[in-house]
Amino acid sequence: MPKLSKFFILLTLLISLPASAQPVEYFTDNGYGNPVSTMHHPCAEFVDGITYLTYQGPHEDPYVSTYNHTTQKWTGPFKAGVNPMGREQDAIDRDGRVDNHGRPAMIVDAKGYIHIIFGGHGGSPDLGVNQNGTPGRGKQTHAVSKRPHDITEWETLENISPFGTYSQFVKMDNGDLYLFFRHGSHRSNWVYQKSIDHGRTFADPTPLLISKPQPQDPDILDAWYAWFAKGKGNTITASYVYHPCGKGDRHTKDRHNTYYMQLNTGDNTWHNAPGQHLTIPILKEYADKNTLIFNTQGGRANHGTCRVDENGNPHIFFRHEKGHARYYRWLGDKWQQPVTIFPGNRSQDGDMIVHSPTHVQVLLRYNTPTGSHVGYFTTTDGGLTWKKENPIVSSNTVQYNPISAIARNAHPDARLLIAEDVKGQQHQYHHMILLGDNGPVTRPLEETKNLGNRLEHVLKIKEEK
Ligand code: ZN
Repeated sequence: MPKLSKFFILLTLLISLPASAQPVEYFTDNGYGNPVSTMHHPCAEFVDGITYLTYQGPHEDPYVSTYNHTTQKWTGPFKAGVNPMGREQDAIDRDGRVDNHGRPAMIVDAKGYIHIIFGGHGGSPDLGVNQNGTPGRGKQTHAVSKRPHDITEWETLENISPFGTYSQFVKMDNGDLYLFFRHGSHRSNWVYQKSIDHGRTFADPTPLLISKPQPQDPDILDAWYAWFAKGKGNTITASYVYHPCGKGDRHTKDRHNTYYMQLNTGDNTWHNAPGQHLTIPILKEYADKNTLIFNTQGGRANHGTCRVDENGNPHIFFRHEKGHARYYRWLGDKWQQPVTIFPGNRSQDGDMIVHSPTHVQVLLRYNTPTGSHVGYFTTTDGGLTWKKENPIVSSNTVQYNPISAIARNAHPDARLLIAEDVKGQQHQYHHMILLGDNGPVTRPLEETKNLGNRLEHVLKIKEEK
């Protein structure tokens, strides 16, 4: 067919559709603040043909949508609960304060109920005494769908510690759920709670990584940022970095060194990469001796994500100076020296797909002089060299930031969530994109309007100030 007639057929199609039915690249307009992060994960899961997803919406509350890959229909978003932090402040200006620590993580249990953990930044002091850490804000909250595979109605269960933040869910093949989180504000232990009845009850928190004063300077606290995911079989991986929490009560952004260990959930034992048994909870000195991957000698290292290959060996990226991703892998007897995936580039984040021990793809958000991009970087030689693929999305008017971790059991058409941050935007609401290997999952424009008159309302308040 000649190009021109193709063009006119397309044009006729577009004109014949009402504007509201025309598809756009985002599925909702009500992402709020930093609506997702790689830390709060998973925030999506693919189950029986449907992708379930969650993100932070107005008032920092968790919102849930689904996409049916067979019928190509969206549902939601529905609000799954109330985040107390979003009631204390309701920033309008883009520079206004939004806590963001209470972003939701999601898991669909073996019976099909959808669980959301959200709303915590260590827990406000009026919730009582936290034995495992320092007081913070909000309340770590557990919401579950009233019916399996149905996101329209939710209830809250009082069965987890309210003092959590950076909540992360791991589901095992036998249906057991592990909830990992930092048990308080920024000078707190990392712990986990286990459920063997599909999230109806959880065992008490087990301390894992201990926050404590440094022996050489008790004003500085040893602290951690950790990332947990399912490994091979019945294992759970833990990749983490060290945070020397500043003098007195001063929190800094300092994060150093890279560490790894894993839990065998079968016999409830922890091991380092060489397979040596570890005793938990873990203190800084013990971690340096037994679980250290790489000493950054004072240089920065922030968490990335960790996925395992068919042998169970971990592949990890951490984000080093200015946020550039460096790839690590366990060779069976030692760690491969970290390799920069995309030199000269900054502010990267994302996740990884391990196809084999040598074939790995990292799906990153990154910036170049021409704009913001999300796309794959591929290695076929075990991470020694990386090839930059054509980006899936690119823009010079929008920053694709933040980005989430990859959905659990992800469908290739629905890997992860990104928020669009429009340059010059004066408010805190963002379009949300569900991104697959070939682009965003589109939705009719009319279905994406979920802000109501909120934007007009907040802009009006701003004018009156
Ligand atoms: Zn701190």
